[in-house]
Amino acid sequence: MRWPLSTRDRLRIFTLHGGVCHFCGGRIQVGEAWDVSHDRPLALLGEDDDDNRKPAHRKCHRRHTAEVDQPAIAKAKRREARHLGAARKPRTIRQWRKFDGTPVFATRER
Ligand SMILES: [Zn+2]
Repeated sequence: MRWPLSTRDRLRIFTLHGGVCHFCGGRIQVGEAWDVSHDRPLALLGEDDDDNRKPAHRKCHRRHTAEVDQPAIAKAKRREARHLGAARKPRTIRQWRKFDGTPVFATRER
């Protein structure tokens, strides 16, 4: 678990980027909720430093996380599992039935 950023850190990151959301490019208005977002997600080996930390509207940040980052992270995990040989092969169906109900058995193991 990461330690939450201090007020001073958040203020520095906000000022560094002129208070502009790095997703939509719009200004973060007074009173609007915003987060410090990682340009390259930590789960995809992004660094937790100022080069990678940028302010973002909370709504832009959440949408991007759900639509872009999470699928990319899931894909990277699947790829890693295959690469390391940890991935399970899809289960082979060994028995099924014809439309008239008679069972059909697979003759060969794959
Ligand atoms: Zn935005």
